[in-house]
Amino acid sequence: VFITFEGPDGAGKDSVLRRVVPELTAHLRVPVLETREPGGARISEHIRELILDPANTEMDPRTEAILYAASRRQHLVEVIRPALAAGKVVVCDRFVDSSIAYQGAGRGIGEDAVGALNNFATEGLTPALTVYLDVPASVGLARINAHRRDTQFDRLDQEKEDFHDRVRAAYLRLAADHRDRIVTVDATQTLDQVCADTLAVLRTHLAA
Ligand code: C5P
Repeated sequence: VFITFEGPDGAGKDSVLRRVVPELTAHLRVPVLETREPGGARISEHIRELILDPANTEMDPRTEAILYAASRRQHLVEVIRPALAAGKVVVCDRFVDSSIAYQGAGRGIGEDAVGALNNFATEGLTPALTVYLDVPASVGLARINAHRRDTQFDRLDQEKEDFHDRVRAAYLRLAADHRDRIVTVDATQTLDQVCADTLAVLRTHLAA
């Protein structure tokens, strides 16, 4: 079963995953593989470094989208597909929806175009369940500024609130368009409550 986690910056995705995945692992009989893009695929990590290098100020948005898709492809071939084939539950931190939101809407190169590019990269592999942690841009950014991840300054930190507004709006559209797959959790709640809601969503899905 392929499960992804999505959300704007500051939604608390990392904290939620850190708590929820061990609980899920303890609760299930099938093995769980937690991964994140570029996660453990050497070529993908090289590509990720290129994307996030603050020196690469001249990177064109389409170049960025293609690089994310390429990184994703290699991670999918080396990590996700083999784990799914072995019958594991794969929990992946970000996937195609991130590119549609960040590159498609955030950078403004078009959600459909980025969707098509990623459809090529993934050969249509779609998560069975996507947990979308929803926060308004202002709330997410305020959290990030309050708990700045010390050294992690990348090009994306320079983006302004309107970029994050577009990202969130795209996520909301995706959630509305793919109700069969995307479940929205209100991530403005306390971390305890967000984790409880997320676990409930996962248990319901995996019991089905
Ligand atoms: O998941 P995490 O929040 O650690 O993502 C790292 C950064 O990469 C974030 O700042 C996010 O905005 C950015 N990102 C992006 N496009 C993607 C995936 C992530 O701009 N497709």
